[in-house]
Amino acid sequence: MAVNRTRTVEECRAAVARKRKAGRRIGFVPTMGALHEGHLSLVDYARERSDWVVLSVFVNPLQFGPQEDFERYPRDPDRDARLAAGRGADLVFEPLLEEMLPRPLATRVTMEGLTDAFEGEARPGHFDGVLTIVTKLFHVVQPDVAVFGQKDAQQAAAVRRLVLDLDFPVEIVVAPIVRDPDGVALSSRNAYLSEEERRSARCLSLSLEAARSLVDGGERDAARVERAMRALLDGTTGVEVEYAAVVDPQRFTRVERIEGPSLAAVAARFGGTRLIDNTILTPA
Ligand code: AMP
Repeated sequence: MAVNRTRTVEECRAAVARKRKAGRRIGFVPTMGALHEGHLSLVDYARERSDWVVLSVFVNPLQFGPQEDFERYPRDPDRDARLAAGRGADLVFEPLLEEMLPRPLATRVTMEGLTDAFEGEARPGHFDGVLTIVTKLFHVVQPDVAVFGQKDAQQAAAVRRLVLDLDFPVEIVVAPIVRDPDGVALSSRNAYLSEEERRSARCLSLSLEAARSLVDGGERDAARVERAMRALLDGTTGVEVEYAAVVDPQRFTRVERIEGPSLAAVAARFGGTRLIDNTILTPA
């Protein structure tokens, strides 16, 4: 199926303006490309909640640290456009670097509090880079609804807060994590894993399952749940754990007691590849 593709802000704005004038509700799925079933599930969510869906592909340099994988991040624009079209996206917006960032930025979006720990601590500047580009993309696309993945739970919480704090007229929807049959959450970075690393990576979802079954069994002490997650991760060969934590899903601060919905979140390195995963813990 053919899909409209554009590299320019001007064309994207014009296409959206035409659809809006025709009374369409605009849906938006921002991505960095190398699309997989997780991204495509977000297109499904956007289609259910809007009439015309824009998917953006932009590998955002502002959200990568100097030692991170910006240069080697997988890129395959033709495949992305084909997959997005096949899933029913109406426009693929794939701006070049110089289109999104034609000059050094003098203005940036920064956030305090919920982006300080976990991903924010491990990746200094990451969230400011994400929120700055999300702001620009929201201004270009002007969606009625934008869909993000629970896979990046802290990012989704930060985007919700951005929209709340700065009065963006956009509804934020967060879609569940899509996993491979072995439990590993889909991620563009899984492509970096050797076979052995891929086997080790199962420990992330296994640690989250362990957390869930403890909570289902009545455990309410977050520290005990964290210790169980960590024991499982530490017992796997070839994994370097960064964090295994139970947090408040909106504020991303540690909780002591799991009395309401809480988030179990993990991050670890497998060789040179850093992966994250999480699950909601819901005490009965
Ligand atoms: P990325 O291309 O990694 O920036 O991701 C773009 C969007 O897809 C983000 O909102 C991610 O949270 C979401 N996403 C990535 N992986 C998954 C997954 N396995 N399941 C659901 N959503 C995902």
